[in-house]
Amino acid sequence: MILTREDLIRYLKPGNPETLQEIIDLAHRVRLNHVGNKVWLRGLVEWTNRCAKNCYYCGIRRDNKEAHRYTVDFRALEEAIDTALSNKFGSMVVQTGELSGEQFVEEIGEVVKTIKSRSDNKLGVTLSCGEQSEETYRYWYECGAHRYLLRIEASDPELYSRLHPQDRFHEQKNRFISLELLRKCGYQVGTGIMVGLPGQSLQHLADDILTINRLDVDMVGLGPYIPHHRTPLYELKELLLPAAVRLELTLRVLALVRITMKDINMAASTALDVLVSSGRLMALRAGANVLMPNLTPADYRKDYFLYDDKPWLTEALDLVKKISGQVRKYGLEIGSDEWGDAPRFAERNSKKTTTGKLL
Ligand code: SAH
Ligand code: SF4
Repeated sequence: MILTREDLIRYLKPGNPETLQEIIDLAHRVRLNHVGNKVWLRGLVEWTNRCAKNCYYCGIRRDNKEAHRYTVDFRALEEAIDTALSNKFGSMVVQTGELSGEQFVEEIGEVVKTIKSRSDNKLGVTLSCGEQSEETYRYWYECGAHRYLLRIEASDPELYSRLHPQDRFHEQKNRFISLELLRKCGYQVGTGIMVGLPGQSLQHLADDILTINRLDVDMVGLGPYIPHHRTPLYELKELLLPAAVRLELTLRVLALVRITMKDINMAASTALDVLVSSGRLMALRAGANVLMPNLTPADYRKDYFLYDDKPWLTEALDLVKKISGQVRKYGLEIGSDEWGDAPRFAERNSKKTTTGKLL
């Protein structure tokens, strides 16, 4: 379905329950037709909250001296892998603050190799470790990672610049360059945005949806912005839309991304559960088809605070049990023991092969 910028703005506008239901129902049908009824599970490990960057919205930014910094150890990682395997998760996601340097690059390589070898290559690996060099992306791919998430956060250059310090470490163009490098290295590439940022308009969100379409990514991870009290953006909290409106807007964006992109994978983000306890369930009804239960060991989990009120107490297995019962009424079921790759990726690669043969 081709939607113009004006169409998108009209469908994004909160406050009209009929248009909300209309796009959610359409997104659900598109999802069933193009990616099926499975909800893919990715066990999330927040490997380290150490970060060299200073994004204005994020609770683990470098200058938050109150954050207690940690790096998970390999024994705890092995336990998380075993939990993923024994509960038939198809993949793991490894997320970190953004660090560089040989030690970090090696360490993440070891994390990926550990997941691959301990699971006998059963588990797929998604990384979300920020902007890195082509060499690093290539190395991690060779270690066995095959998906990478890197949100553009906001496509509008002016809005982006209000969310980040003005220095060479936070340039918007590097986000786009990284996404290109990741594609070049062979990854399934994911991106996304935050919804409900102070100063973000419906026009911004419509442009975000168009940009994500143009980037032709395989995966999308988007969620509501949730303030963190130890960040510069917290000062603008008076500008924040009420939680119910941020929730509605996020569901609208999710549905519109599903309707316009069809065969991608799309995550139900944890941040939604901060706004309402059934937030992720609502996302799965609005087009999302991936759930990332948190397998970070409990001792560390409480320190990975990107935003306030993170539902860190929800145990991964309780969440899966609860959601698997709840999604049945929508005709959905939990996918077991499969990587659950996005059909769009296979489709793009088959085209590439055909072209190659013709040449
Ligand atoms: N350091 C990596 C990955 C970890 S952060 C990176 O930045 O890419 C992962 C995502 O968390 C970010 O892309 C951002 O969109 C989200 N995030 C950070 N702070 C947030 C907040 N206050 N509210 C909602 N999402 C937030
Ligand atoms: Fe670091 Fe990512 Fe948070 Fe930015 S969003 S401060 S890069 S963890």
